[in-house]
Formats: sequence, structure tokens, C-alpha cells
Amino acid sequence: TDPALIRNFCIIAHIDHGKSTLADRMLQITGVVDDRSMRAQYLDRMDIERERGITIKSQAVRLPWDGHVLNMIDTPGHVDFTYEVSRSLQACEGAILLVDAAQGIEAQTLANLYLAMNADLHIIPVLNKIDLPAAQPEKFAEELAGLIGCEPSDVLRVSGKTGVGVRELLDHVVASVPAPVGKADAAARALIFDSVYDTYRGVVTYVRVIDGHLSKRERILMMSTSATHETLEIGVISPEPKPSDLGLGVGEVGYLITGVKDVRQSRVGDTVTSAAKPAAEMLAGYEHPKPMVFSGLYPIDGDEYPELREALDKLQLNDAALVYEPETSAALGFGFRVGFLGLLHMEIVRERLEREFGLSLISTAPNVVYRVVMEDGSELTVTNPSEFPSGGKIAQVFEPVTKSTILAPAEFIGAIMEICQGRRGQLQGMDYLSEDRVEIRYTLPLGEIIFDFFDQLKSRTRGYASLDYEPAGEAEADLVKVDILLQGEAVDAFSAIVHKDKAYAYGVDMAKKLRELIPRQQFEVPIQAAIGARVIARENIRAIRKDVLAKCYGGDISRKRKLLEKQKEGKKRMKMVGRVEVPQEAFVAALSTD
Ligand code: GDP
Ligand code: MG
Repeated sequence: TDPALIRNFCIIAHIDHGKSTLADRMLQITGVVDDRSMRAQYLDRMDIERERGITIKSQAVRLPWDGHVLNMIDTPGHVDFTYEVSRSLQACEGAILLVDAAQGIEAQTLANLYLAMNADLHIIPVLNKIDLPAAQPEKFAEELAGLIGCEPSDVLRVSGKTGVGVRELLDHVVASVPAPVGKADAAARALIFDSVYDTYRGVVTYVRVIDGHLSKRERILMMSTSATHETLEIGVISPEPKPSDLGLGVGEVGYLITGVKDVRQSRVGDTVTSAAKPAAEMLAGYEHPKPMVFSGLYPIDGDEYPELREALDKLQLNDAALVYEPETSAALGFGFRVGFLGLLHMEIVRERLEREFGLSLISTAPNVVYRVVMEDGSELTVTNPSEFPSGGKIAQVFEPVTKSTILAPAEFIGAIMEICQGRRGQLQGMDYLSEDRVEIRYTLPLGEIIFDFFDQLKSRTRGYASLDYEPAGEAEADLVKVDILLQGEAVDAFSAIVHKDKAYAYGVDMAKKLRELIPRQQFEVPIQAAIGARVIARENIRAIRKDVLAKCYGGDISRKRKLLEKQKEGKKRMKMVGRVEVPQEAFVAALSTD
């Protein structure tokens, strides 16, 4: 295709503002999907995406419109996947900034807009859902115009649901988004903006060609790893994969298949070039995915450990950001320490393990990565609280911090500041987007955000606040490890790294919780919370004399046997901590965050 006829664009929006629905309408109006096979959220292919109504992986579809080729790239909307979003944006020249006409600008509207502006994209401001009775297009057109510096009359109005205004929007894309420019006879350079594992076809890699040309049956080189592969198939998606003998030229968006079986060999952000005539430099901005949140995952049934390993191996084929290594817990047995991009990523992985692989899992409370500097100058990276040094020789502890942006109606400023302050936030600034809508910026420790921050924010603002955060390096903090001990024995799964000021509350809370969850034993069981050797909280489980056989008065023997049998059953689901029997349910309950 002549690059002059190509328009590459994406739709960026806060979650639920209607991106997928608008994409659906575009597929239908351009005739790519006929009315009969249309189903809601056509592009959200993973089950979990469909059920949750969110987009996790980006997708690209080629839409013919008015003699032009439009490539629409659907981007994931969640903060965990910011890097993937940024790569999708890099594959475009324009972005539709979609805002719900009944909601107005939200945190991810801003975050995505800034990413799009960084990528130098032409921005098309659009209000969606104008069919809603609650829509306030005048008000929000003004808000949006103020944000990007245009006239309110420049803001388009559509309904992804009814299709109103969608044709005009497509015309507008053709008229206003710049055509791609690149050097047709230069060495090939294509940006990988997504990479998906398919059971039948292996890894399907989505690319945007910047310079040169990629062909079928060509040896290609992945520039970040120097691995070479042969393109077995190359083509475009419209809306299903359509192989093309012509390959892909400047400005084109499509897919390629090389037969590799692991997305880590075809990484988002990497540059594809020709092995025979490689480009001198890779495209800018490649980053290796970096896990930010860690949690221990253990099978409830210890026998399922090999299945868990196998399931993680399989998931990793499709998820280059997922990392894990074996870990043993005295309390929970054999499991894995797993690293995630963020909380949503963690939830998705857990859900897939349980749903697609039928596993039942216990996960330990999520934690961030700490950097500990010892007095002798040595340093260690802690991804598991139980590995945090217990001795007194720690010089400094660093934790990851974020630049967080919260958008909310102005009436909630007080509540929001209270929550943020309570979580060691530092106010960075505040701006009014309109007279009743405010943007509040904080520096917040990531460790405080991953612990039910969002839920609290939502409940204190009746659901009106939205949050976005980005990593902003690390900061020194007064952090300590709190251990929970049963009969003097630390239970590794309950160790937590908390701020000094919150250590006492955590200790008391955990000790109380466990006293209620652990059944009485034949002997007294002290529960203690401690920082190093210093005990900060204490509870006691009183002893009982439990003799099940006493109930039988020496009566019939088969009844006795049955009782013993039953007791053995129960014991199987018990974990031993020292001499103390702890039912599995107690771990599950104590580790759940609410
Ligand atoms: P996304 O998270 O941005 O992809 O949003 P979705 O496309 O999944 O839409 C979120 C919700 O808004 C769904 O319940 C849609 O049915 C609804 N929705 C989307 N567009 C419109 C619209 O134009 N009008 C109305 N009334 N509802 C819409
Ligand atoms: Mg969606």
C-alpha cells in the first residue's frame, strides 16, 4: 500500500469510557465484520478480558475506508501495562482521545493523553456516549478543549453504542491524521508492539514497519536479543489474520509468524530487521519488563506443585513480563515467588492459573521490591519479606515510589488528602480542571498503593475518584520487618515489611486475627509479633484437652476407627508450624487482605 493512503491510529480512554464498543462499531461500519458475526468487544479475545470487559492485550485491525487503509490499534487501558500502551502509541501517527460524555476526564484519560503527546501523535478529542440521558456534552467539551488547547467546537461527539457520529469520526481520521513516513529503500525496521502466543501457530508478533520492507520466507533478526528467525507467514489482521504474499512495507501494520513458541523471543518494544541486511540502529525506547510487585503462590494441595510449575511455564509463553522462581515456605510448603507488573497483572495471572489450569492456590500478601544497604556497604534486593535481614546492621532501606495522580470532584479533596497522608504521601500539586473537578498529585510509596489503596479511595469518594500512577524511582524509608511467631517460631508467610509507625498496628492486628483462626491445641500457644528480638504484640491460645475417643465410652470399635480416620483426614489439611497445627484455612483467611 502507498504510505500516503495509510492512517495508523489508536483509541485511548479511561477504562469503561467505551473504547472497545467504539472499536466494534468501526469494524461494523467499515464492513470488516458483518452484522451477523458481530459480537460485543470483538477485539477482546481472551476470556478474561471479555468477562471483565477490559482490554489486556493490544490488537490491531486493518479497516478499509474511503480509498484509504486505516490501521486501528486497540491499547490496554490499565496502569500495569503502561509500557505496552506506549509501544502501541509508537506504532501510530494519531490518537482518538475518547471521553465519556457523562463522566468527563479521568486519571487514565490524562495519563494516556500525556503518553500520546510524548509520542508526538495527532490528537482527536472525542466525547462518547452522547446517547446517554446523563451526558453533558457542552460541559465536558469545554473541559476537554481546555485540556488539549482547542475549541470546544473541535471536539467530536459520538455514540459507540448507536453508531452516531462514527462515520464522521472515520472521515476525520483520514483528513487529519498524518500519513506515515519512512524510508522505503532503507534496511527494514519494524516495531513489535504486541506478541501473543497461540497454541496452534506459536507466537504471533504484531509489528509496525517504520522503514524498508518485511517479506515472507525471509530471515529476520530481533535486535535486542540478536536471535534470528524465518518469517513463515506475514500478513494483516482484518479482522482475522490474512496472510499476504507481498509482505509489509513502510507504514504498514500487521503480524508475522516465525514458529517461535515463547513470547520472550519476540518482545514488545524490540526492533525486527532483516538478518541479511540489518539496520544499523534499533528503534528507540526498548525496555525490558520489570516486575514491580511480588507474591508467593502455593498450591493448597501440596501434590499440585508440579502442575503449578507447568502452568506457570505455559503462562510465561504468553506473558513476557511474568517471572517466577521456586520458593519454600516452612508454613506453606513448596511454591513460587512470582513477580508481576502490578496488582491487576497479579490478579489476572492468579485467575488464569485457577481457571485455565484448575489449580487452587494460596498467595501471600503482595510486596514491592526493597533495596537494603547494610552498614558494611553491602547491598541486597529483597523480593520476599522473610529474606529481609533481621540483624541490626541495616544502614538504609529504599522502597519504590510513584508519581500518583488522582482525579475527583472537588468535594472529595479532604478525604483524598487524608488517605494519601495516612499512607506517607507527599502532596506535589493540585489543579482544577473545571470549577468542580480537581487533579491532585502525590508522591506515594508503591508499597502503600498495592495494599487496598484503590478500594479505600473508591469507597471514600463514592466511586468518583480515579487513580493513575507511574514509577518515580526509589526513596529511603524507615521500614522494618515484622515477624509473626507461633510458640516462638516465625511463620515465614506472615512476615511483612512495614513502616515503623505502622508496625505495631500490623502486629496487633495479625496476632488477633490468628488467635481467632487457629484452633486450640493440647498445649498453650503464644502468638507474638516481633521486630527482630523485640516483641511488640502478644496473644495467647489457651490449651484444651482434646480426646476424641473419650466420647465413645469404650463402645463399639468401628465407630472409634471412623473417628480416628476422620481426624487423620483433617490433619492432612493441617500445616505444622513447629508443634502447632494450623489449618490451611487459617493461612488463607489470614493472608486475604480484607
Ligand atoms: P472500554 O473499557 O473503554 O473498552 O469500554 P467498553 O467499550 O467496554 O464500554 C464500557 C461500558 O459502556 C459498556 O457497558 C458499554 O456497553 C457502555 N458503552 C460504551 N459505549 C457506549 C455508548 O456510546 N453509549 C452508551 N449508552 N453506553 C456505551
Ligand atoms: Mg475495552
